[in-house]
Amino acid sequence: MTVQPLAELKAAAPLAGRVAIVTGSTSGIGLGIARALADAGADIVLNGLGDANMIDTVRGQLADTHSVRVDYNGADLMQADGAVRLVDDTLSRFGCADILVNNAGIQHVSPIEDFPAAKWDAILALNLSAAFHSIRTAFGPMKEAGWGRIVNVASAHGLVASPYKSAYIAAKHGILGLTKTVALEGARHGVTCNAICPGYVWTPLVENQIEDTAKARGISREDVIENILLAAQPSKKFASVDEIGALAVFLCSEGGQSITGTALPVDGGWTAQ
Ligand code: NAD
Repeated sequence: MTVQPLAELKAAAPLAGRVAIVTGSTSGIGLGIARALADAGADIVLNGLGDANMIDTVRGQLADTHSVRVDYNGADLMQADGAVRLVDDTLSRFGCADILVNNAGIQHVSPIEDFPAAKWDAILALNLSAAFHSIRTAFGPMKEAGWGRIVNVASAHGLVASPYKSAYIAAKHGILGLTKTVALEGARHGVTCNAICPGYVWTPLVENQIEDTAKARGISREDVIENILLAAQPSKKFASVDEIGALAVFLCSEGGQSITGTALPVDGGWTAQ
């Protein structure tokens, strides 16, 4: 039986030599996770939608700041073959895909009786099925290497529900089931699989919601934040993308080797209620 030496658990660049795919990393939480993994020494494959010049600037900054290799892969994860291609391209380019972060996601808010079927299909495809297709493709090589880290970005809405978000909440509950199953299948092979469950996190997506809601309701930004967005979050504070990134790094480090099959809330106490 081998026990990891403490020095290895505390290395300054604990993920040096690892290759990490982060889906939906052109913005928000995914970009925060990509930055944190690069800061820990991992080479990064960025993925997501957005303006080509903006993405290239982000790619260049990440590579220069952290002295790691950073690629961009524009695979559309709404399609099953996009998720497969993202992993296959990474294996061809880098020879491995040690870390897979399934983060890309979309939302639609509507009462169930009006919920468009096409939105249901799109949310399930991106927020749940894309993770199945990418994990399915990356899992064999991870098993063979005897080391792998899979992190699924779920949500507090993977643990509890709110009205009008049927597809999102079904997908986020679903990804927690997928996480547990993959954890059991990887447990004897050095492959862990965990879910991070953020409450409200400060991203461009949320910033836009604040402005729009304040205008629509004729109330102040502070009212929107305190009484609408953070109503369920006892800390009354947004989590930052850096906090989510720090947790992802820990889960991917040697210190996280026995943590698997979990759903970790980063929600200021929301799901403790
Ligand atoms: P965001 O809109 O800032 O980022 C979403 C990312 O997904 C972007 O990079 C976007 O380009 C990418 N994407 C969208 N469609 C895609 C497609 N077809 N193929 C590939 N990539 C695609 O949102 P965010 O707030 O950073 O959310 C990221 C994840 O975190 C999502 O899964 C979301 O459900 C989850 N989450 C967010 C919050 C929050 O408060 N922001 C809370 C809980 C969970």
